[in-house]
Amino acid sequence: MGTASYAQSDSIMLRNISDEVMLHGTCYENLRYLCKKIGNRLSGTPQAARAVTWGEKAMTEAGADKVWLQPVDVPFWIRGQEKLAFRYRGEKSFKEVNVLAIGNTVGTDNKLLEAPVVLVKDIEEFKNLPDDAVKGKIIFFNYRFRQDLVNTFEGYGDAGRYRWLAPNMAAARGAAAVIIRSVSTGVDDQPHTGSMRYADTVKPIPAVAIGNTTADILEKKCKEGAVSAQMQSNCHMAGTVRSYNVIGEITGSEHPETYITVGGHLDSWDVGEGAMDDGAGCVQTIEIVRTMKALGIRPKHTIRAVLFMNEENGLKGGLAYADSARAHNEKHMIAIETDAGGFSPRGFGLDMKESKKETIRSYRHLFLPYGVYDFEHDEGGADISPLHRMGVPVAGLLPDPQRYFDLHHTRADVFENINHRELKLCAVSLTGLVYLVDKYGLGHIDPLSDTPINSNVPHSLKKTN
Ligand SMILES: [Zn+2]
Repeated sequence: MGTASYAQSDSIMLRNISDEVMLHGTCYENLRYLCKKIGNRLSGTPQAARAVTWGEKAMTEAGADKVWLQPVDVPFWIRGQEKLAFRYRGEKSFKEVNVLAIGNTVGTDNKLLEAPVVLVKDIEEFKNLPDDAVKGKIIFFNYRFRQDLVNTFEGYGDAGRYRWLAPNMAAARGAAAVIIRSVSTGVDDQPHTGSMRYADTVKPIPAVAIGNTTADILEKKCKEGAVSAQMQSNCHMAGTVRSYNVIGEITGSEHPETYITVGGHLDSWDVGEGAMDDGAGCVQTIEIVRTMKALGIRPKHTIRAVLFMNEENGLKGGLAYADSARAHNEKHMIAIETDAGGFSPRGFGLDMKESKKETIRSYRHLFLPYGVYDFEHDEGGADISPLHRMGVPVAGLLPDPQRYFDLHHTRADVFENINHRELKLCAVSLTGLVYLVDKYGLGHIDPLSDTPINSNVPHSLKKTN
């Protein structure tokens, strides 16, 4: 067989995969069920437990050879009631605004907390505040998401620091509470929640997020004169709950002991429906199994489709999966994550040795007909990061990022904001990548194993880009 026929048979297979998903895919209907019948599913909640049962059933219906639940003990955080109100200069009464507590934070024990608001534009300005401007005050970190960055994930890395740092820095200096401008690209009033963790050295204080519109007003009012805030909430941690990762396998025909892991996370924040983050990734993962089975693709290596639990506020699922891989001395060729939205796929981030990146980049021309061209970023994903630290090469699906941080961790992350074609195209790309990596391998597998596996990537494919 000449090298040209390799490329031709691969492009035909990707076309078959695309036709199967676009014409017969069940991922969109699965997403509808997950969002509308189960809804949001923060770790530890009854909805998260129902999502596990659903995932197990959906994976079985997709035709996985083997489906099982991997135990994971997860933290259980309860939002409860929450209220934030401001009184601006010259006004008599407090007016309530839209608010979401940042995940894992403490509340006010349902007591009314009232204190002056102190505006800072960033960490530098906070550091320069005198102690009496911090102690007992509610610090408003007004850091804006950088709209100039075209890749919104870069902007998230930048502004997202505030969700973790601001509560800790303010708590360390005796502030009463923290308000942050949401980590959001949105031109609206959606507050965005998300995780944080208190340092062991600080006494936890309440931390909440407000939407961009409210933040704009608060900024203006703080510049005009004194502003007071009232905060009342009862969010709290409620111990640990037994939960599960859902795992479905297609057993490899030649190297069943070598794994290709692909997955997204089953848990979500406790507002909205967790449609984009990460219901989309879950139903795409299940779609990979269904599509390979429907097309009669028999992978050489074992494909593990994983719905991880607790990505959002603890990463316990990703950690449990990696612990189990280590305990069983498993060989992992690659782990692929889909947790960046269900929008049109644009590429794959690759975090692995250069030679392995080059192997995957050599398939670029096969993905171009599906709008997937970008293989230049170094990204995997949170759930597979524990595997990556053990040396496993990782990749992450990169959908178009422009709308993601309008919706991320908000009440607006609902099924209606996912397009069925875009969702399916993501599943096409993921299935294509799994197919190609399984077929040609990625060279030597390390360090979970020293056993080399087949690498027969045609030379012509390597030169394509
Ligand atoms: Zn996510």
